[in-house]
Amino acid sequence: MSKPLTIAIDGPVASGKSTLAKSLAEHLGYLYFDTGAMYRAVTLAALRRGVPVDDEGALEALAREIHIDLKPATQNDGRLYDVYIDGEDCTWAIREPEVVNHVSQVSAFAGVRRVLTAQQRRIGERGGVVMAGRDIGTVVLPEADLKIYLDATEHERANRRHLELQERGEQQTYEQVLDSLRQRDLIDASRAVAPLRPAEDAHILKSDGMQSADVLAQTLLLVSERQSQLNGKHG
Ligand code: C5P
Repeated sequence: MSKPLTIAIDGPVASGKSTLAKSLAEHLGYLYFDTGAMYRAVTLAALRRGVPVDDEGALEALAREIHIDLKPATQNDGRLYDVYIDGEDCTWAIREPEVVNHVSQVSAFAGVRRVLTAQQRRIGERGGVVMAGRDIGTVVLPEADLKIYLDATEHERANRRHLELQERGEQQTYEQVLDSLRQRDLIDASRAVAPLRPAEDAHILKSDGMQSADVLAQTLLLVSERQSQLNGKHG
């Protein structure tokens, strides 16, 4: 039997990382872990507790203090997984516009990243995991067995996110969604620490016009290829 792989999936806002990572993990019987939820959780905790979102020291201390848990979904309300902060279910609260508007600013701080990256590495090192984010292939798990960088045009990504929000009953125009996506990508890609970019050894998948099942099928091919390579090496 093949050794369970460590798989990194990175990409910009609404590139389909979460959908791919979740279905891939289900397919392989691996753990699905979405690191974006952790940055969102720290941002939500800061907003709720009145910690200024420009105070790196206070945010780092907060990231250390709170306990963030990601667990398999316990409710059938569209969530991909449950998110708890100190035991409280915050799955939908971390998706609210107030959090979305501040999360990239909070995530740009080295201190915050130090705390969360260490926690993410501990989870990734066990193997048999599909980890999604912005810097998984480059910083969190540079030794990952397979790295995917999922991308699509701004228009396609904004459209997808707009539809998702409409399905959840949120009233945002396409222009507002596009504007927020652009701002977040700009901050994520231009920050000094762990910026959003493909790892040199990442497979870049452009998902414009593709169904999620096609993206999954392409990725499963890459997984089998990689497993054969690794079996060849060690077998
Ligand atoms: O993936 P998601 O949209 O939930 O990520 C929310 C934000 O968290 C991103 O815009 C980015 O600022 C930050 N993030 C990050 N590094 C990661 C995952 C997410 O900086 N590995």
